[in-house]
Amino acid sequence: MTDLLLDQYQEIVGEDVINNLRQLAEPLRGAKVVHVNSTREGGGVAEILHRMIPLKKELGLEPSWEVIAGEGEFYQCTKYMHNTLQGNRSEIPQHLLKRYEETNEENAERLRGQLEEADFVFIHDPQPAPLLSLCSGRRGKWVWRCHIDVSRPYRPVWKYLRNFVEPYDASIWSLAEFAQPLHHPLYLIAPSIDPLSDKNIELSQKELKGVLKRSKLDPDRPIVVQVSRFDRFKDPVGVVQAFRLAKTFVPLQLVLAGGGATDDPEGEEVLAEVRAAAAGDSDIHVMLLPSDAHRTINGLQRISDIVVQKSTREGFGLTVTEAMWKGKPVIGGEVGGIRLQVHNHHTGFLVNTPEGAALRIRYLLTHRDKLEEMGRKARQFILENFLITRHVREYLTLMLAILRGTEERIELV
Ligand code: UDP
Repeated sequence: MTDLLLDQYQEIVGEDVINNLRQLAEPLRGAKVVHVNSTREGGGVAEILHRMIPLKKELGLEPSWEVIAGEGEFYQCTKYMHNTLQGNRSEIPQHLLKRYEETNEENAERLRGQLEEADFVFIHDPQPAPLLSLCSGRRGKWVWRCHIDVSRPYRPVWKYLRNFVEPYDASIWSLAEFAQPLHHPLYLIAPSIDPLSDKNIELSQKELKGVLKRSKLDPDRPIVVQVSRFDRFKDPVGVVQAFRLAKTFVPLQLVLAGGGATDDPEGEEVLAEVRAAAAGDSDIHVMLLPSDAHRTINGLQRISDIVVQKSTREGFGLTVTEAMWKGKPVIGGEVGGIRLQVHNHHTGFLVNTPEGAALRIRYLLTHRDKLEEMGRKARQFILENFLITRHVREYLTLMLAILRGTEERIELV
């Protein structure tokens, strides 16, 4: 096995894709690229940066990753921001906004030299957004990368944040419908998964058997899985209803796996509702997972026959990407990024009700050839569109476009 990441990805995506990355990276050789976010561990942003930084380095760029440091009131403020930008209606107390700005000033003191020197700075999400206004000697291009859904923000909070993000050279959004109008160019870059991470890497039969056994599942009966936080928008109770309906026609087991319930009061409530809905049925397995259960989630997705993601509201829906990559057809709620991934009747089914989900579960389990064909198409679709290599390609293209924006053609050697 080679040590070079690019070689490892090449085995999955093919030579052309990797050659294309090398070509795009060539004019950017030696470019200093700094990413700034607010956490090194936990959450999708950190997960992606962990993999993207070494890849960009192998491609000849000079990437680095900085994390802004803050304390209690800073995170209280940014949590408020996160929730209000995604639709909660509440004012952020003035003293918290003051802490937000002060924390950015403190971090700017530490990072200014590096940020002003960089050719490109990618600032992730609202937490470090004010840094641009604090680096007046900047030399490079600055891009604000928004990972959250700002389609229906609480206006006063968006207006406050907009003052900080408007002066950026560009911004990146995950989906068109998440964005707000701004005066600079807006780019769309969808998230991705890493096929070499613990969450997605191939697992041995032995490991899969271990997951089956630990989960107390019967290998001889079909398994339907939904992996998600216990959150009402993920509609776990709807999944139980769909399961109960489908089970009257086909033998079936259901796994609802997720974590994060213990430190989230609403999560505990939802978990209690799910347990009540599942009571008395030993074929429903509600599994509370620790936050580092990546290989278990990988295994559960792989041992399933069908993956369900019956959300009634969703961001991009990475669990859908993960399942499709494992060759599973997904029955998903017709919302958010699920609609970009599940092509109705081709890579899975889009549904709006428990009855709809039950009908599709029953159909797939009684038409195995269809189930397998959809699973194959699902994997191919993710291979072509939602792996980290596509994500890096779009970042490189964006950097070239920003640098050479006025040229009609960008010649690559
Ligand atoms: N996930 C996890 N543990 C859990 C539940 C989810 O590691 O208990 C992972 C899941 O595999 C996926 C991500 O967290 O990678 C969830 O992303 P998604 O976009 O599906 O939903 P979100 O939770 O961001 O709304």
